[in-house]
Amino acid sequence: MRGKGLLGIEPLTAEEIQKILDRARFYQPLQARTGRKLDTLRGRTIIHLFYESSTRTRTSFEIAAKRLGADTVTLSAKGSSVDKGESLLDTLNTLAAMRPDAIVMRHSASGAPHFLARYLETPILNAGDGTHEHPTQALLDALTILDHKPSLAGLRVAIIGDIAHSRVARSNLHLLTKFGASVVFCGPPPLVPRELECFSPNVTRTFRMEEAITDADVIMMLRVQFERQNPHRVPSASEYFRFYGLRLEHLRAARPDAIVMHPGPINRGREISSEVADFPRSAILNQVENGIAVRMAVLDLLLAGESAKPPERPPAS
Ligand code: ASP
Repeated sequence: MRGKGLLGIEPLTAEEIQKILDRARFYQPLQARTGRKLDTLRGRTIIHLFYESSTRTRTSFEIAAKRLGADTVTLSAKGSSVDKGESLLDTLNTLAAMRPDAIVMRHSASGAPHFLARYLETPILNAGDGTHEHPTQALLDALTILDHKPSLAGLRVAIIGDIAHSRVARSNLHLLTKFGASVVFCGPPPLVPRELECFSPNVTRTFRMEEAITDADVIMMLRVQFERQNPHRVPSASEYFRFYGLRLEHLRAARPDAIVMHPGPINRGREISSEVADFPRSAILNQVENGIAVRMAVLDLLLAGESAKPPERPPAS
């Protein structure tokens, strides 16, 4: 990964993914301590450039960089020269001229970071591009699943909601199938593309929640992405919840130790009930916490290098 950036899960091998997860495991215990700042990336500068809203990804990338000792600058499209008509490539060239060590970016256009990576030498980390990929989300999801299950191989993962517009669904599809999990996609017919089933024999789709959840080890709920479709064609919250909202009674069909996940932001009463979101087997906040360890791992491997040993044990509290 060194120097190359992280554009998606699709081009990574299972070994490369495993390396990131192993490094993230090293950083996990650090989150619970005081005195968390390391100097692995001291003297490095990371720019975070967000053209779309973000709470979890943006904050945790920034915290991850800071915990590794890097200097960070965060820029959102609002308030930058994008408002004044500057092109994406000109903005990125301008930022690259300031010699950051990496640029973390989120953009509403699928492929935007890939396009820029062709022109810039600065490594780019994709923090979500349109409906295409959200690689660090899939990595933190895998880390979270592995906090609860011994391995990804053989798991049945139900991914339910607006699959068509979800970069989280796509990155998870790549990661989970590389590790031998099976994935069942579920949602209203227009939101679950038929092509997904051609991806691998381990991928199926259904429009019935009960079928998706039966024997599931992991239930991953997704938000309806209003910003990527005609909002007038999206069913009302109550209508959607009736057919595709996860409620406690659904969990009876899943495995007794099934966990519930959601990349956030969650919409209670639309895709998930409050009882489930706050349920003891809900791993939603666990996912948020793991976001920092995974992003530390990615930044560390990218900028310090694979051969660089992780620092001695994290400083004691
Ligand atoms: N936060 C995730 C993303 O940026 C999921 C979502 O927005 O629904 O793709």
